[in-house]
Amino acid sequence: MSKPAHIRDKIYKTVARQLHGKVPCWMCGEHVAHQDATLEHIQPLSEGGSSHQDNLAISHGRCNHQRHAKVALVAE
Ligand SMILES: [Zn+2]
Repeated sequence: MSKPAHIRDKIYKTVARQLHGKVPCWMCGEHVAHQDATLEHIQPLSEGGSSHQDNLAISHGRCNHQRHAKVALVAE
């Protein structure tokens, strides 16, 4: 497991505490509901990014999907 749920929860809670309950999506900037939250690598692992918390950000599940769909499309 490269993105354990407990790390996602930890980052989500940290951001929520810092921003008084608001957790902006890394992709679109809108608030992310907890059940919607996915962990995104800011710098992709394929480009040398790490799985350290510094390289991880919360995004919507749908935004995360869109990004990966786009990456897949470029790769083709
Ligand atoms: Zn989003």
